[in-house]
Amino acid sequence: MYSAGVRRHAVALIASGLSLRSISVSTGISRATLHDWRERPDINTLVHACPRCAASPALPEPHHDYAYLLGLNLGDGCISRAGAREKDVWKPRIICADAWPGLIRECERAMCSIRPGNKVGIQQRPGCAEVSGCSRHWPCLFPQYGPGRKHLRTIELRPWQRVIVLGSPGHFARGLFHSDGYRGINRVRAHLADGDHWYEYPRYMFTNESGDILRLCGETLDQLGVAWRFSRRNAISVARREAVARLDEFVGPKY
Ligand SMILES: [Zn+2]
Repeated sequence: MYSAGVRRHAVALIASGLSLRSISVSTGISRATLHDWRERPDINTLVHACPRCAASPALPEPHHDYAYLLGLNLGDGCISRAGAREKDVWKPRIICADAWPGLIRECERAMCSIRPGNKVGIQQRPGCAEVSGCSRHWPCLFPQYGPGRKHLRTIELRPWQRVIVLGSPGHFARGLFHSDGYRGINRVRAHLADGDHWYEYPRYMFTNESGDILRLCGETLDQLGVAWRFSRRNAISVARREAVARLDEFVGPKY
């Protein structure tokens, strides 16, 4: 009989994608037992398993959902204690406008996927929905949560978060643009000899007050091969036709 802690650790290792053979070698647990835990994961183990709290911390899975949630969190997310009585339980909130029901569902799905054992709820507010779920582990998963406004403190990714973002740049960009960005139509007036002409073209904008978050967005766009520029001190614009087409592969209009 193994303790809950040993089992939790092994389940986190299985979730991280290591082979049962290598886990068996490193933990001394038989492959038959590991196989059994993989096929019939005890729900209590899954509920509390946190890849970052494990004895050998692993990356949260699946990476693309984590990258998307991280992008959303750096944009519109905030975290607070779930209640006075449960002082170690945290509740992140991501605000999605009612105008985009698809985003509300996508956010909820990604949150459930990262914390499969935690209940994720949607609370209706005037004009928007708050997607949130309680867990003790949100601060381990999103260490950028902290007191004070995000643009007034340093926002830096941990090395393990960089690994995920570098591996899933499109999903990270999608999260950023779904929270603090949009894809809209820009109208430009040209003064020509036969009068004024209006031209319309799609462009992306990402607006954030944090220089650190703008830098992360710019680095990710560079990695994706998307040309961008600062259109204002606090706004990144993607307007070139081929750059918009490239970003459409990962983001697209809100829905
Ligand atoms: Zn944790």
